[in-house]
Amino acid sequence: MDTTTFLKKTIGGVTQVEPALTPPPASTEQKSFVKKTKLGSSRSKKREIPEGLWIKCPACDALVFDKELDENLQVCPKCQQHLPIASRERIHSLVETCTFQEMDAEMVSVDILKFASYKSKLDRDRKATMLKDAVVTGVGKIGTHTVALGVMDFRFMGGSMGAVVGEKLTRLIERGTEGGWPVVIISTSGGARMQEGAFSLMQMAKTSAALAYHAKHRHPYLSVLTNNSYGGVMASYAALGDLILAEPGAMIGFAGPRVIKDTTHADLPPRFQTAEFLLDHGLIDAIVPRKEMKARLITYLDYFAAGKKYAAA
Ligand SMILES: [Zn+2]
Repeated sequence: MDTTTFLKKTIGGVTQVEPALTPPPASTEQKSFVKKTKLGSSRSKKREIPEGLWIKCPACDALVFDKELDENLQVCPKCQQHLPIASRERIHSLVETCTFQEMDAEMVSVDILKFASYKSKLDRDRKATMLKDAVVTGVGKIGTHTVALGVMDFRFMGGSMGAVVGEKLTRLIERGTEGGWPVVIISTSGGARMQEGAFSLMQMAKTSAALAYHAKHRHPYLSVLTNNSYGGVMASYAALGDLILAEPGAMIGFAGPRVIKDTTHADLPPRFQTAEFLLDHGLIDAIVPRKEMKARLITYLDYFAAGKKYAAA
């Protein structure tokens, strides 16, 4: 008897799991009285739901068909929670078909500090994500606009910024400046990559300097913050957008709420560090649901392009 094998989706990637339907061994004796499974018991639920086809939403506990989640760009259709999305999936949702030309796809970290177990972690995440590091950069078209687009990926070492992320983004920004194109960076990061020590921190200055040069040439930069955007990324390029957008519910800050609470010994206000809180307090300009992101980016890019034409006339 053939059985169907399902692929289990995890944050780390795709792994093969046990067949969902296991045929009974041929030698099993057929008993005349079979104990009935109680309706609604956890055991019967387990049998009805093949592993890997359904994903439990971490926010509302709803079971969502994973194909439905894919079609909905990893946004829970029940509660609209924005779950992590792979960088390539996000690029696909934003750029016009076949227009994205990736840059520096082969750039890899060299583990210059020989930091304990760093190399094995890099290997693990490379295998799991099929990425070389935590950002994918390139030039593509969003609507009619050519843009230099960088998209971070949280699955690769928590989207941490080491020398590769910093260098790839700096080259991207410089390419945008040369081409006279807007730069769009979609961030998700736990912060600087501790395994690269001061080399990670230097990326903050490098990316910021490239953006200052880009601004000097009066080209726009749009920063999109997604869950979560923290640390050295938030303290550099992610906070420097001419427009700063965020996805609903994204957690955004420098240090996490627990660290701030422990340091200041003060009670933090409700919704502290959420995109909604930061919109109310002026750090970000708009909250845009993932499914509307492309249309909204086109609107803003139209606006910047029209302004440029007006200034040149
Ligand atoms: Zn949900």
